[in-house]
Amino acid sequence: MRATRAEINTRQFRKNIQHIKSTLDKNCALCLTVKANAYGHGLTQMSNISQDIVDMFAVAAVDEGIDLRNSGITKPILVLSAHLEEEIPDICRYNLTPIISHDEFLGAYQYWAEHFGMVLNVHLKIDTGMGRTGVSPSRAKHTAEQILLYSGLRLEGICTHFANSDDTAFTAGQLSVFNDVLAELPSVTYVHTANSGAILNNPASHFNMVRAGIAAYGYAKDPAIAPVLALKSKITVEKLIPAGHSVSYDSTWTADKDTKIGVIPIGYADGYFRALSNKAFVLVDGRPCSVLGRVCMDQIVVELPADGNYMGKDVILYNDSTGLNADIVAGWAVSAGADSSDLAEAGEFKKQRHQINKFTLCAT
Ligand SMILES: *Cc1c(COP(=O)(O)O)cnc(C)c1O
Repeated sequence: MRATRAEINTRQFRKNIQHIKSTLDKNCALCLTVKANAYGHGLTQMSNISQDIVDMFAVAAVDEGIDLRNSGITKPILVLSAHLEEEIPDICRYNLTPIISHDEFLGAYQYWAEHFGMVLNVHLKIDTGMGRTGVSPSRAKHTAEQILLYSGLRLEGICTHFANSDDTAFTAGQLSVFNDVLAELPSVTYVHTANSGAILNNPASHFNMVRAGIAAYGYAKDPAIAPVLALKSKITVEKLIPAGHSVSYDSTWTADKDTKIGVIPIGYADGYFRALSNKAFVLVDGRPCSVLGRVCMDQIVVELPADGNYMGKDVILYNDSTGLNADIVAGWAVSAGADSSDLAEAGEFKKQRHQINKFTLCAT
């Protein structure tokens, strides 16, 4: 078995989802966002182990929806991102639910819905401030009326998406625009706006469905929620290099004393960012060790403690009980180079620095 693996805690995943559900009203449905390979956790596995406790799934692309249907998912599947006209036959064939941001395709949806002898559920999205997909608020009523003209379409949902779900003032502005538009529109089965940030910060955004993503995978400012994925590997080479010897491509790190190094078979091809070169820490057999030099495509080098034997020992790249998690690691990737004033949340940044200090035992 390959040394590097992502371990998924399926029990924690279900616990996170149950906790999110506990923050919702009884009649509020939960749509689980599983786009981008379920945030890297595995699309079909994560969907199948949660199908019994969610009401709907959300993917970004039509292909992902097809994969879900082929893996046995029978719950409704929302397609969050806009798609091409040529993808409409598959949307109907696999009974996926598109989110409508313009009225260009209504005739094509109708044509293919009739072809497959179905009524296609669609949701209408309003751009209340995200500036991405969605019809403008002034266009919403017209588009909804257009949809209602097609017998093969059913307007099942109305939605919007927040640009700053952690910022309650900006979100309140978007919500107010949304509520004004909603008052002009026909009533539908599902009204939904909230992603994870809004679910936890803003109960007024729940309406009767929420779209939870990142919180389900364990990233939220809520002590009841914990990360689901741990990235682990093992030491495959342990050796001493003499003072003056450099490490990895471009020789960006040079030993100032005789140094014990370890090689770990993970690199930027595995998602361990090149931006972590000379910045990150990993836990080797529970001991913090700094990444030396450039992150390579498939390997990294770390400084090992001078004492002990680490060949074949377990390495945690992220997620363990010390709080070394993917959020912290992602923070390291953007920390140097980026000016700290670029970071939206200076407090968050400080917290990451604090975490870095926690791991400096073996940094030189
Ligand atoms: C990704 C996404 C979500 C989920 O967002 P999280 O912040 O991960 O909870 C919800 N709605 C839309 C439209 C999205 O693109």
